[in-house]
Amino acid sequence: MNELNLIGKTAVITGGAGVICSVMAKSLAAQGVKTVILDLNKESAETVAAGIEKEYKIPSFGLSANVLDKASLESALEEIKKKFGAIDILINGAGGNSPAATTKAEKIEGTDNENIEDTFFGLKTEGFDKVFDLNFKGTLLPTMVFAREMVRKKTGVIINISSMNSYRPLTKIAAYSAAKAAVNNFTQWLAVHFAKTGVRVNAIAPGFLLTNQNRFLLIDEATGGFTPRGKKIINGTPMERYCLPEELTGTVLYLASDLSKFVTGIVIPVDGGFSAYSGV
Ligand code: NAD
Repeated sequence: MNELNLIGKTAVITGGAGVICSVMAKSLAAQGVKTVILDLNKESAETVAAGIEKEYKIPSFGLSANVLDKASLESALEEIKKKFGAIDILINGAGGNSPAATTKAEKIEGTDNENIEDTFFGLKTEGFDKVFDLNFKGTLLPTMVFAREMVRKKTGVIINISSMNSYRPLTKIAAYSAAKAAVNNFTQWLAVHFAKTGVRVNAIAPGFLLTNQNRFLLIDEATGGFTPRGKKIINGTPMERYCLPEELTGTVLYLASDLSKFVTGIVIPVDGGFSAYSGV
């Protein structure tokens, strides 16, 4: 018996061409789920989808859409309906940080010669707009477009991708941390709002992964070892290593399936103990 019982369902994965969400899409395909790889980057989305079809012999297609543009999501919906019919699972995975919303300094030292532009006071409001838009509105808009039919049919699952930063912000990345905290709060709000319809809304808060975007911050190019920031993350993670994308998939399958039928409005940390550890 397949207890997950996901065979034949359809999942839309935003940011599906990315490091984390392409692996989540594969894990769903491995359970017989048809996957829509929705991403700004059409070519990468199509490559991921083609790889999935080849490996799992389950229909998948790549679709270019912008999670910040409702019209583009609405035309994506029409294409999905034509190809796969109703959507059962939505993973809101598109997200990330921006250098314009990142301070150079970790803390204000209070010394006479420090450059105040390297601190909180040098942050750009455009940077905040960009990061809040991508992580928060980029979760809100696809949900508005793709969940309407789920609510009508009284069945469906939404999984938002948050971060450890949502509970305890890392230094430097103020906007990203606050935007992911907003994702957690919205997950709870929408879970309550949808609860009577049977559409469940939950989130996953991954710990720290090494990805192309953050590798330069965490790995010293010259030595190949960790940078001081990279080491701090390891020291704050009781398992003393980075998370692998594959280690998030068990939680995705649990939340996507009826194994979690009475679970809604929660954020599950998958973090090697990071959120439990006081550092002492
Ligand atoms: P990634 O950069 O590999 O993937 C993000 C994908 O989103 C890319 O393919 C990109 O093209 C796409 N995208 C960006 N803007 C878009 C838009 N406007 N519309 C549609 N698609 C868009 O990033 P990742 O590290 O795999 O992160 C995936 C999610 O996991 C993000 O929400 C991120 O915040 C979260 N996360 C990452 C980490 C980590 O350590 N990497 C940790 C916790 C949470």
